[in-house]
Amino acid sequence: MTKSDENRLFYSLNDYLRDKYGCKVRKISVDAGFTCPNRDGMKGEGGCAYCNVDSFAISSENSITCQVTERAEKLRAQGVNSFILYFQSYSNTYADMETIRRRMDLALVDKGIVSVYIGTRPDVIDAEKLQYYSKLNEKYEIMLEYGLQSANDNTLKIINRGHTAAEFADAVRLTHEYGIKTCAHIIFGLPGDTREDMMRSVELCVELGMHSIKFHHLHVVKNTPLADWYYKGTVDLLTQQEYIEILAEGIGRMKPDMVVARLVGDAAGNTLIAPMWPQNKAEFTQELMKYMTENGIYQGCRLDHPL
Ligand code: SF4
Repeated sequence: MTKSDENRLFYSLNDYLRDKYGCKVRKISVDAGFTCPNRDGMKGEGGCAYCNVDSFAISSENSITCQVTERAEKLRAQGVNSFILYFQSYSNTYADMETIRRRMDLALVDKGIVSVYIGTRPDVIDAEKLQYYSKLNEKYEIMLEYGLQSANDNTLKIINRGHTAAEFADAVRLTHEYGIKTCAHIIFGLPGDTREDMMRSVELCVELGMHSIKFHHLHVVKNTPLADWYYKGTVDLLTQQEYIEILAEGIGRMKPDMVVARLVGDAAGNTLIAPMWPQNKAEFTQELMKYMTENGIYQGCRLDHPL
């Protein structure tokens, strides 16, 4: 955060992009046809307990360039000329180097692209891939987004993540050795996680020197093991107010210069079962800011005290 932003409650991704690029930057999400090692048996089967199998439709390589050019055209019509290329779906480093390189080349087709964010799992990254991304990092800002979800290995087992917190930490450290920034995905409200565990997830990211965190609330979508647990009554979901309180505490534990890249999760289409909040993301943000203000919480406040 800059001096003039001292009154800001948290450092959002939009704030960061404005500080770094001085203009509007928007994401172009690409489904580049990668799959998931936690479904095909390489790391596990059945996938994470909250992940919707029905949404597991993979696009073909032929469409990658079209996805980028069509979205870039729409954004330009709205006055946006700088873009983040976002490899969002599934595990975007889960392939051989030749495939990764080819799909990246098919996507890097617009001169407005300034940055590339790559969503993946911590168990499908290695030195060869990082070497390649570090070369790209000379021209574009590269961000590797790793799913942690929880720093509690017992919780990771319950939700069938197929990796441990230590594997996550190793992947992040290795990525930093190549000078590449990292973002963590954390879910609050997972079965097995206490509030202390949730704070530990945030603290692990702080200790590792990560660039940003995307926060999600646990939601139940159709055709998942989590949906079965929910209908059997074996999983409790947070209320919006409970989530706001946990999220505020988590943000308070982040260093002031880390980026809060997301506040709350999204469910695709009509797949959502529960909870039905937030109805509106802008209102949710207002509620969070109101709670933080009323309780004297701001990003980094907890760092005034020993963790
Ligand atoms: S959430 Fe990601 S890692 Fe887990 S099963 Fe779904 S695609 Fe795979």
